[in-house]
Amino acid sequence: MDTMMLQEKLVEKLLCPRTRTTRQKDKQYVGFATLPNQVHRKSVKKGFDFTLMVAGESGLGKSTLVNSLFLTDLYKDRKLLNAEERINQTVEITKHTVDIEEKGVKLKLTIVDTPGFGDAVNNNECWRPITDYIDQQFEQYFRDESGLNRKNILDNRVHCCLYFIPPFGHGLRPVDVEFMKALHEKVNIIPLISKADCLTPNEVKKLKDRVRDEIERFGIKVYQFPECDSDEEEEFKQMDKELKECTPFAVIGSNTVVEARGQRVRGRLYPWGIVEVENQSHCDFVKLRNMLIRSHMHDLKDVTCDVHYENYRAHCIQEMTSKLAQDNRTDSPLPLLPLPTPDVETERLIKMKDEEMCAIDFYIVIRTLVLFY
Ligand code: GDP
Repeated sequence: MDTMMLQEKLVEKLLCPRTRTTRQKDKQYVGFATLPNQVHRKSVKKGFDFTLMVAGESGLGKSTLVNSLFLTDLYKDRKLLNAEERINQTVEITKHTVDIEEKGVKLKLTIVDTPGFGDAVNNNECWRPITDYIDQQFEQYFRDESGLNRKNILDNRVHCCLYFIPPFGHGLRPVDVEFMKALHEKVNIIPLISKADCLTPNEVKKLKDRVRDEIERFGIKVYQFPECDSDEEEEFKQMDKELKECTPFAVIGSNTVVEARGQRVRGRLYPWGIVEVENQSHCDFVKLRNMLIRSHMHDLKDVTCDVHYENYRAHCIQEMTSKLAQDNRTDSPLPLLPLPTPDVETERLIKMKDEEMCAIDFYIVIRTLVLFY
């Protein structure tokens, strides 16, 4: 063994005094196992974004729930309309954006609110401004993606829509059915039963069953939770099953902190007791929050991108191609018929040209041969 090799071995031993088997294993270690870490570091550096839409009649607790979900005050400058103003109000779209940071991870959260939805006396097609808004975001993304500069594209596509169903009725109202049917191909809809503290546990169960039945009967495609992997832990599988069973989530929101069982909690204080927002036996708020933020935020974004946006894109391209074909047809009024067969004179000329070309080729070959020898 030469001195070089001995030195190398010594350095290796000093730096890393490990067993022989580990060293052998290390030889087979290329390093791509660090790829998840690299992706993790890069995405944390870049930050995340999420766009959430809330829809439903005013007064159903949308803003209170959003504030409770993200522990921020997103509606500081909200102007509440009186009854008279609401009669003629049309649906408008408002956007609130906040940057939240938790343990070094940055999230740009955009809440798209739809004040005025379902408030007017005539609610005919009141979902139109909402579907238009969703389409506009897809269109903008499509333009940016097809443009020259594709760096730093702003993604304003709506990733999820929380649809608030009132707790007072007997299931879905016609406007709820129409809204969800108009939007289910464009966005991930998650239906919620709002203000669940107005109902007894039995009433909540009945209303949930009814809403589930009606969603199926009317062919509404709400967001489907992805199937759990078979190799997941039993505990995770159980949680996933519970999550799927408790839809539509019955939620309670509150912006006030009250004292319950010696602890300060978000809740609603009533003469008969306290309703705790984060108590799982009182409502499904925690399940909704976990699903939306901790377990399914990425899937919601993936479905938006891979299913809803892809559908929009395919539709756009199809429309563009058929328009182009139509324009071409109108631009060239000459029918695309087979070329007429040449007459005798033209055929003679073509033959002469062919012979001429042959003679030139023959001359080039001869010249090359002469030059070589
Ligand atoms: P939005 O118009 O849909 O945004 O509704 P708001 O969030 O402004 O709430 C309207 C009213 O309902 C306010 O007085 C809230 O305090 C109240 N509220 C909000 N969430 C709940 C809830 O879960 N239960 C009950 N009982 N009231 C609620």
